[in-house]
Amino acid sequence: VNSRLAPMGTTIFAEMSALAAATGSINLGQGFPDTDGPEEVKQAAAEAVLAGRGNQYPPGPGIPELRTAVAEHQKRFYGLDFDPDSEVLVTAGATEAIAAALLALLEPGDEVVAFEPYYDSYAACIAMAGGVRVPVTLRPPGFRPDLDALRAAVTDRTRLLLLNTPHNPTGMVLTRAESEAVAELARERDLLVVTDEVYEHLTFGAEHIPLATLPGMRERTVTIGSAGKTFSFTGWKIGWVTAPPALVSAVRSAKQFLTYVSGGPFQYAAATALALPDEYFTTLRTDLRRKRDLLTAGLAAAGFEVFRPDGTYFVTTDISGLSEEDGMAFCRALPERCGVVAIPNQVFYDDTAAARSLVRFAFCKKDEVLAEAVQRLGRLH
Ligand code: PMP
Ligand code: GLN
Repeated sequence: VNSRLAPMGTTIFAEMSALAAATGSINLGQGFPDTDGPEEVKQAAAEAVLAGRGNQYPPGPGIPELRTAVAEHQKRFYGLDFDPDSEVLVTAGATEAIAAALLALLEPGDEVVAFEPYYDSYAACIAMAGGVRVPVTLRPPGFRPDLDALRAAVTDRTRLLLLNTPHNPTGMVLTRAESEAVAELARERDLLVVTDEVYEHLTFGAEHIPLATLPGMRERTVTIGSAGKTFSFTGWKIGWVTAPPALVSAVRSAKQFLTYVSGGPFQYAAATALALPDEYFTTLRTDLRRKRDLLTAGLAAAGFEVFRPDGTYFVTTDISGLSEEDGMAFCRALPERCGVVAIPNQVFYDDTAAARSLVRFAFCKKDEVLAEAVQRLGRLH
């Protein structure tokens, strides 16, 4: 493997999910629900396969039905108008959208400013694109962005801001004021913004503000969404990009040589899912909020310091009250100790010292699974 990728090692999700399987532990590591999304959406996928819709290469930008459904979703929830033909692109999950955007938009040596911790593909994709990452660290307890530090991180070599709200792994959701400050900086320094909003519907009281809704931002923003997160089908890998035509066209230039297309029948199903009534989205939130409260209360009782998330299906904790070890050692030993798998936040940082004792748990699991996990974690002290 080349020198750009070698430092990235193996993704933590592979390591920890393998450990969960090998030890029969409850997997609160990798973020995926243990309950599939709506029955009618599954049905739509099955029907598409059987009717021969999408079994051969779908169109490069994605099937028109899905591009239209994405545009309608952006209109329904955010009042944003996107032309399905020139301003929407279907990708192989948000992961490919991130990769294609960075590969398409970065010149070698361009700097990318992003809040750390970040989802682990960000660092790898910036590296593969020959870019240079410039992290701005979010710190407990609130993980609120330091806007002065963000401003100071931008140089003449900065090409884009890579954002993620609601934020994995901290659960922080950018406030309107914070989003406006980020937007002001982008306009002032003429930066592009790639914004990963895959957890857009997974918020608990906090309002999700798409960056593209702020003044002057639509024309410089690439917004990324995913059916995996919004509809609980992470195995389908259907994601999408909305952006102005020139940016969509750029992302597509890279995407066409990565996967060309993917998931034909699932694209039909994702179109069905995006048209679900508002009630679906409300229930998703309500259920997840209950799960968050269940797990956070259990973790606190078990001796973890808990940083309660406003969004996503992750909670970050501090293990200092339970262990002297760093998060990595703690997570590697946790399955043996109590049959639970978690993720050490340090893998999401360049400044690993800032996350030495931070550990992430996923709560997108059945209530009884969370209850059992809490009981097991209670044995730690
Ligand atoms: N972005 C973030 C912040 C994520 O947490 C994830 C992983 N679930 C992704 C992107 C990838 O999404 P997908 O599964 O659609 O590729
Ligand atoms: N995004 C998910 C998480 O943070 C997992 C994605 C993956 O396995 N690459 O847990």
